[in-house]
Amino acid sequence: MIPAAFEYARAASIDEAAKLLDKYGEDAKVLAGGHSLIPLMRLRLAQPSALVDINGIKGLDYIKVEGSKVHVGALTRHVEIQNSDAIKDKLPILAEVAGEVGDNQVRNMGTIGGVVAHADAAGDYPTIALILDADIVTNKRSIPAKDFFKDLFTTPLAANEIVTEVVFPVADGPHKYIKFRRRLFDWAIVGAAAQKMNGGWRIGLTNVGPTPVRAKAVEEALHKGAKPEEASQHASDGLNPSGDLRASPEYKKHLARVLTRRAIEQSA
Ligand SMILES: Cc1cc2nc3c(=O)[nH]c(=O)nc-3n(C[C@H](O)[C@H](O)[C@H](O)COP(=O)(O)OP(=O)(O)OC[C@H]3O[C@@H](n4cnc5c(N)ncnc54)[C@H](O)[C@@H]3O)c2cc1C
Repeated sequence: MIPAAFEYARAASIDEAAKLLDKYGEDAKVLAGGHSLIPLMRLRLAQPSALVDINGIKGLDYIKVEGSKVHVGALTRHVEIQNSDAIKDKLPILAEVAGEVGDNQVRNMGTIGGVVAHADAAGDYPTIALILDADIVTNKRSIPAKDFFKDLFTTPLAANEIVTEVVFPVADGPHKYIKFRRRLFDWAIVGAAAQKMNGGWRIGLTNVGPTPVRAKAVEEALHKGAKPEEASQHASDGLNPSGDLRASPEYKKHLARVLTRRAIEQSA
């Protein structure tokens, strides 16, 4: 299908992008990789009055390790995260996750800023951002991940607010992200992340609710010495996933438990 008519402007700086967003008003949207926004526009599920293209902004695609933090610029493409030696060294779970996003075409175009701003329940990075207590930095402020993913496709971003980077802590311990899907390039039916850091486990789940979930009951059970098979039984505690064409709520809860156990056991 063909999108509804819209204005288009290409910004050369964050300031210019913010001014353009102000000029076009509430219905304007930032365009990054376009791999979520354009399909929605083609289906006319999104009909922005204007697109402010940020792809021409120099210096917004970077991966920098500074002390105990890893800074990933908003325009960094999935493929750059997947192949980055710095990420593989200091935050290997993120490289693993990036390599599991969509197919080559999606990974060549999609950006980390786009995934977090879009806040799709099946997005993979939000789960990692949540369990690692990452910060989402914008042109106005820094927002902890736990306060960022408010609801399905809902974040605290204002209409003229632009994500500029995501800041993760260095996490180079045992880790695993497992996505359950029917085809290799599909979104997760359910995903589970396990990361060991500072002597404890961080466990997260993708697509078992409107936002990513941190499985604290599993973390606590592991902390008290439970084995993975026992601790992972708590992965579905408090979950109320909605069913869809691919999985019923009960099946998603089952997957949450099974994938959590596998993620912990396969952490390397
Ligand atoms: C076939 C297919 C398979 C996919 N599979 C997966 C998958 O398995 N896992 C996964 O996580 N994702 C998947 N995706 C989504 C992909 O990762 C997208 O790239 C991502 O969701 C959006 O990033 P983008 O850069 O393309 O953003 P865009 O599509 O350009 O924008 C998405 C939304 O975010 C806003 N936005 C973008 N950047 C910013 C910014 N810097 N500041 C403020 N707002 C911003 C836009 O206004 C828009 O509302 C898939 C997409 C496709 C088409």
